Amino acid sequence: MHRRTFLAAAPILQSVIADTSRAAVSTPDAPAYKTRDAEIVIHTTKGYPEKWKSIYEKTIKHYADQWGHVGPTHIFLVENTDWDPTTLTHERKSQLEASIRSLKRKFSTLQGHDADGQYLDWQTGNHWAGWSITPAHLTITMTMTPIRDAQQFVIGPIHEYTHALQTAYGFSTEAIDGNRMGHSRWTGPAWWREGSAVLISYLYSYQNPKLFTELKRPMTWERFSHEMNRNLSLYQKANLPIRTGVTHDDWQRLEKINKVHPVVYAGGSVACAKLLQRVGSLKRLFAFLHKVPDLGWEPAFEQHFNLSLEKFYEEFENAISKAQPQMDGDQRKSNWASFLKEMQ
Ligand SMILES: [Zn+2]
Repeated sequence: MHRRTFLAAAPILQSVIADTSRAAVSTPDAPAYKTRDAEIVIHTTKGYPEKWKSIYEKTIKHYADQWGHVGPTHIFLVENTDWDPTTLTHERKSQLEASIRSLKRKFSTLQGHDADGQYLDWQTGNHWAGWSITPAHLTITMTMTPIRDAQQFVIGPIHEYTHALQTAYGFSTEAIDGNRMGHSRWTGPAWWREGSAVLISYLYSYQNPKLFTELKRPMTWERFSHEMNRNLSLYQKANLPIRTGVTHDDWQRLEKINKVHPVVYAGGSVACAKLLQRVGSLKRLFAFLHKVPDLGWEPAFEQHFNLSLEKFYEEFENAISKAQPQMDGDQRKSNWASFLKEMQ
């Protein structure tokens, strides 16, 4: 499990990363995710803070209303006993433990497993997206505490629901392995999958300050710009191109040298920003996803962005080697991400 403090979000299984070297094949076993009017169901541990449940739910509905209700998507909001140990009474601790146990059982049953789900690792500090093939549905699990990072209750759901969109639009032409869970392939390279989720979650937060009305601070341009410049800086320092972050094996290799974050997440977000700049609006970036089920990821990429993946890698690395991150809003340097400020 890949853990992080801020950007967050790791796949529930390592096998979610696509091996794009194999051709997309239609199989009768492809899960039938809905891409319209799908249900979004929220499950919580007993006594979960209403305020944060409501912010999470509101964010995800706002985003889904705009880009599509896919799924069904089941969301698990989990309060762990280590959220605030200083004020936790003995009684509340037992209540929470029992509630977590029963929620894990529910999760497992939903996935079609005749198991109690106690193998699920719901440690505080993560959020991630998963899926089930039979029955076909998507899952999002959130264990982060609002005490530590309130902003994650707006950014986090957008990030994870972007994975839900990628999955719902990716599976229909993807080959599904006979294995009941996992071994299914996601849409596109790891850098795209995580990079687009990182970029879009920040951009959408920035474009919709209304989502932050109950929080102390909205996502300002300064914060968004800082995030993107920091990502550029991390990527440049990693000194490995995004094309080393494509497959499941790539992910494993990068994990061993602690470079999943700088290459896949940070580098991926910069690459996706460049793709967004190319098409000119978030709407047109999303339009790419809609082509994936029919064409497969890479042909859809070539058609939509009007260049080969190979050519994109080449142009991107070339552009990025010359770009300079603008740190701490230092106005003496030009801001490579400034085009995002007025992005539609
Ligand atoms: Zn993610």
